[in-house]
Amino acid sequence: MSIYREWADQALAGETLTRDAARECLQTPPDDIDELLNEVFRVRQEAWGKRVKICVLNNIRSGLCPEDCSYCSQSNVSTADISVYPLKTMEAIYEGARQAHEGARAKRYCIVASGRGPTDKEIDYLAGCIQKIKADFPLEICCSLGLMDEDKARRLKDAGAGWVNHNLNSSERFYPNICTTHTYQDRVNTIQAVKEAGMHTCSGGIIGMGETEDDVLDLAFAIRDLDIDSIPVNFLHPIRGTPLSDRPRTRMENGLRTLSLFRLLNPKKDIRAAGGREFNFGGDSWRVFYPANSIFVEGYLTTGGQTAADAHRMIESMGFEIER
Ligand code: SF4
Repeated sequence: MSIYREWADQALAGETLTRDAARECLQTPPDDIDELLNEVFRVRQEAWGKRVKICVLNNIRSGLCPEDCSYCSQSNVSTADISVYPLKTMEAIYEGARQAHEGARAKRYCIVASGRGPTDKEIDYLAGCIQKIKADFPLEICCSLGLMDEDKARRLKDAGAGWVNHNLNSSERFYPNICTTHTYQDRVNTIQAVKEAGMHTCSGGIIGMGETEDDVLDLAFAIRDLDIDSIPVNFLHPIRGTPLSDRPRTRMENGLRTLSLFRLLNPKKDIRAAGGREFNFGGDSWRVFYPANSIFVEGYLTTGGQTAADAHRMIESMGFEIER
């Protein structure tokens, strides 16, 4: 039996890959990638069949952030040429939800705001938006608003939000290389507060920031140990004007190895091939559906992406179905 089949069987049996096996997965030889993907697809299929969950982001406040995350075009150290605006109106946030549901055929609507974390007043405002959206559309609502305590998470939950996103982004060891204004532990605390509030968690990372293989392994096992429900795996899109603007692209093979590892460690979880998919993988990005069951369409926070119509064609031409 091939090692890839063994890993998939272990994942299906609920067993966790050893760190050595996880490392081997990240080192899969190029000629074996297809075999790895075929085995990982068995794991993906067990939980998600051939369904693809479409997510749409709405960046409801852009720029003006006091934090210094080096990968982000909205940080206080970024000189990137981006749109900068304060919180969008309730009407604009509602209209974004309508377009996500009706046009993009999205299952999840992700409300994202730049900043260190939301104020009480902002939570009240967003709770009102979420109630209106949930009254009219069968969308899953995820909020990505920065650092948050249990009380704020609970108020979002009471309004109808199901998920809070807060990415670990990388390993604890590497974290000071990408941010100095808050810590890895601050992020873990937010995830724990979200869990205490009884909400689902969404947390993943960014690949390609200069981290080592061990950092990727630490991140992958940390996400697994925190029992995260929804896992976006982003691939750095280096933006001019940010400290990471010179980082090279992530190669498709590395992206597939990483997504496969996250699937093997989290067999039943929502694994999303997230930001940077189009930039790094271009026309080959359909291959992410072997390990991943979810993508974003219609762009990201400050960068464009695949249109919903193109993504629908890609999904359907592969014989997958859009989850509604
Ligand atoms: S990632 Fe979030 S907290 Fe960090 S600089 Fe960007 S908007 Fe601010």
